[in-house]
Amino acid sequence: MVDHRLVYLDSQATTKLDPRVLDTMMPFLTEDYGNAASRSHDFGWVAEKAVDHARETLAAGLGAKGREIVFTSGATESNNLAILGAARMYQGKGKHLISAPTEHKAVIDPLKRLESEGWEITWLDVDAQGRIDLDQLRSAIRPDTVLVSLMHGNNEIGTLHPIAEIGAICREAGVLFHTDATQTFGKEEINVEAMHIDLLSASGHKMYGPKGVGLLYVRRRNPRVRLEPIQFGGGHERGMRSGTLNVPGIVGFGRALELCLENRAEEQARMAALRDRLQQRLESELDFVQVNGDQEHRLAVNLNISFAYIEGESLIMGIPGIAVSSGSACTSASLEPSYVLRAMGVGDDLAHSSIRFGVSRFTTEDEIDYAADRVIAAVRRLREMSPLYEMALEGIDLNSVQWQGH
Ligand SMILES: *Cc1c(COP(=O)(O)O)cnc(C)c1O
Repeated sequence: MVDHRLVYLDSQATTKLDPRVLDTMMPFLTEDYGNAASRSHDFGWVAEKAVDHARETLAAGLGAKGREIVFTSGATESNNLAILGAARMYQGKGKHLISAPTEHKAVIDPLKRLESEGWEITWLDVDAQGRIDLDQLRSAIRPDTVLVSLMHGNNEIGTLHPIAEIGAICREAGVLFHTDATQTFGKEEINVEAMHIDLLSASGHKMYGPKGVGLLYVRRRNPRVRLEPIQFGGGHERGMRSGTLNVPGIVGFGRALELCLENRAEEQARMAALRDRLQQRLESELDFVQVNGDQEHRLAVNLNISFAYIEGESLIMGIPGIAVSSGSACTSASLEPSYVLRAMGVGDDLAHSSIRFGVSRFTTEDEIDYAADRVIAAVRRLREMSPLYEMALEGIDLNSVQWQGH
């Protein structure tokens, strides 16, 4: 049976642009096309005013000041600027950084880059739920530690790190704290003052805004954080990020945050209920499933679940039209199991069988029920062909089996 129904359940990869955001952007894609840096005419002033409004809105959403917001092309750039910029600015203090192996690649890869340049990185352990140990963090901080980078909400498994506690530890030790809040900005409560955050990354397209725009919050007081730029040019954004501002993108980003905050609690609760409904159906109608990530401190929208004895990729092919991802979308071109699940100690077989579902503002209950039906049918079909599943049903301990050729 060919089914043409499309259901989008990959909201940790990106979200649909809210039509109300597009409405706000439209004038800046058409008549109001001025360069926000043009100081000599109306076109420039109109653009600058719109950017300032978005800047103030986005800053307020973090408990920050407009002057502390640096606009970028997205969270990848924000993370790079935060990590490379702080490391290079403060290398006089030392060359030690702290992070965790479950971070997004846009944090891990700049850190690895610094490692290749002679920096030392401490990778904190994570437990089976993807949580760090705050005592281990405390004892990892040294006199030569420049920066701790730990994300707020994990894009694969949804686990939330306790960023207020992490911030307090870093502040007390006099170490800068960067958090990648791409999955939580506009969704979870964030206040850079109360949480002692010095640098924070966010992105428009993970919150119903446009792609190609992001921000880096850079603290200006207590302490004043300075960054070595990673790109040079016209000196925009107080010299920290040269380049003509993406005016329509920035306007849309600001509007996207306003919409998120308008009825955040209600929307978060509605999405969590949809996610829970999906989880409940998969857990009650299928055996040998494992939900990955912290079940208490987690994103409202995320469900990462392993279906033992099947391959995630085969399952995805078995549910055409339903958009989900196996492992992280960013690395799904490779057939390596998810590095995040691996760091949590999930075995390769369960990691290979994991699927990430992400609900969004636009997801309906009907879509959830439809997706659950399809996934359950596909898992049953694939397992019918699996000798391993049959052995598991018979109670044979697969670890005790002597495999041929091993
Ligand atoms: C999507 C994502 C990024 C990358 O953001 P872009 O704006 O697409 O560059 C970084 N970190 C996390 C946690 C993400 O989910």
